[in-house]
Amino acid sequence: MKIANSTVVSMTYTLTENDEKGLMIQEVDKDKPFVFLFGSGFLLPKFEEHITGLEMGADYSFQLKSNDAYGPTREDALMELDKNIFEVDGKIDDNILFIGNDIPMQNDEGHTLMGKVLKITDDKVRMDFNHPLAGKDLFFKGEIVAVRKATSEEIEHEHVHDGEH
Ligand SMILES: [Zn+2]
Repeated sequence: MKIANSTVVSMTYTLTENDEKGLMIQEVDKDKPFVFLFGSGFLLPKFEEHITGLEMGADYSFQLKSNDAYGPTREDALMELDKNIFEVDGKIDDNILFIGNDIPMQNDEGHTLMGKVLKITDDKVRMDFNHPLAGKDLFFKGEIVAVRKATSEEIEHEHVHDGEH
């Protein structure tokens, strides 16, 4: 069976920055492959485009330019926040507020965004709310482990039912 809309794909991948020799970002192997419902709109469209039509056992590799992945790094996603908003019961928790830490924060609309702490001064904290992969070209390489037809229930729910629901 070929990968197409409404198929369930299991695949391995090695994700590196830029090209095959780039910095390793994530690795998913055969013991616990990445399983997803193809065409459900949760994956990057260009990612799906590159594996469409492949069958079980096929090896693949391709690069996604940052514009087809998580977009450019945005200057307006860098923010200066008042340090006191990090206070809990009037105290700053040093186990949370330190340089390089990712902290979940709510924006004005109540959405949770992950922000990375870049700099801490006496009264301000500079944070980066860009996606961690923004501005990066990504390289994927792996194997298609399995392809099967999705059940009508999976299509209706827009996710895979593989026991771990
Ligand atoms: Zn379900």
